[in-house]
Amino acid sequence: MPEPRESGAACPQCGGAGYLVEQVVGAAARARRCGCQQACPRCGETGYVMVQAGGTRVAQICTCRHLDQRIATLNAVGIPGVVALASFETFRPWSQSQARAKAACENFARQVRADRPNRGVLLHGKPGCGKTHLLAATLRYLALEKGTSSRYVEFMLLLSDIRAGFSSQRGHLEILGPLSSVPVLAIDELGKERGTEWERSMLDELISRRYNAGLTTLFATNYPRDPVPVPVPQGRAVHTAGRDFQRDAEMMSLEERVGQRIYSRLNEMCDFVALEGPDYRKDGEPGRGSSWR
Ligand SMILES: [Zn+2]
Ligand SMILES: [Zn+2]
Repeated sequence: MPEPRESGAACPQCGGAGYLVEQVVGAAARARRCGCQQACPRCGETGYVMVQAGGTRVAQICTCRHLDQRIATLNAVGIPGVVALASFETFRPWSQSQARAKAACENFARQVRADRPNRGVLLHGKPGCGKTHLLAATLRYLALEKGTSSRYVEFMLLLSDIRAGFSSQRGHLEILGPLSSVPVLAIDELGKERGTEWERSMLDELISRRYNAGLTTLFATNYPRDPVPVPVPQGRAVHTAGRDFQRDAEMMSLEERVGQRIYSRLNEMCDFVALEGPDYRKDGEPGRGSSWR
């Protein structure tokens, strides 16, 4: 008797995954069932298959329904269109720190469990070194491989949404509420905001709610963990953390950007992982056509 054919195994479209992720710049990433899965060959679209269990035949949910669930989970994440195709497979590290950051995110994605608090990851490094790609790859893995729900937000855009909510009589909790309860939340571009008292209170409230609920949060920021040494004319370097004069925002550390209270909370919640690398957005990278952030 011939072996039952593993459907989709040889599909040139999806490589057997059963789904395809579409990239539309300006719109969040969306996945859909691959053409090879349009009419499920296992259950004939009934959603059930009969399996032998202890001498009797019982109905079992077909794997295509799990696939549909995982696709829906991915479509709810809000992965930005520019990194819609980002995965661990498409992240090719150029530096040791990028390889370490990829390993940290992959490790996180594999180990994270919904039934206990998990330590998150905070990626820090200059723009264009792959932080957003790694956040997207992590959330994609969680959705499609584990069925774990998550959300991606860019912090500045979240603040704009909250401000817009005020003018339409919606309280900030209407927006923060769902983000406070999703199993995994990724907050990108942390520290890019102006750092007003109100902005900090929104961030504080969001991460405190998540921390208190034992939920996992991932972060990415352009700001370094340690204060940036400022060269002085004598050739010595001084650290300027905590100084009260206005410094060039580009030179600030994460702690200066978000404040001490939030910074120490971030340390409690996350492992800090540094990324270094050329700026691909500016320099381009030979041999890679996909967009990369
Ligand atoms: Zn296919
Ligand atoms: Zn099926």
